[in-house]
Amino acid sequence: MPKLQPETRIRNCRACGKSFEYPIKGSAATRHHCEDCVNLPVNVRKILERLSARIQSLELKLKLKPAG
Ligand SMILES: [Zn+2]
Repeated sequence: MPKLQPETRIRNCRACGKSFEYPIKGSAATRHHCEDCVNLPVNVRKILERLSARIQSLELKLKLKPAG
């Protein structure tokens, strides 16, 4: 694994939820979107962001509920 630059942080993509390092030299990724999602049409990315937010809230509910 390459050594992280001092300024590099692990971020979660708002659209697909993937963890990615930012900023990476030569990468198109932005603060909020990974390299895969940054090139998507804005309207498509908005839908992904909505679904991603929904999945996160569902995951949170599952974690709060006792198992079984
Ligand atoms: Zn992404």
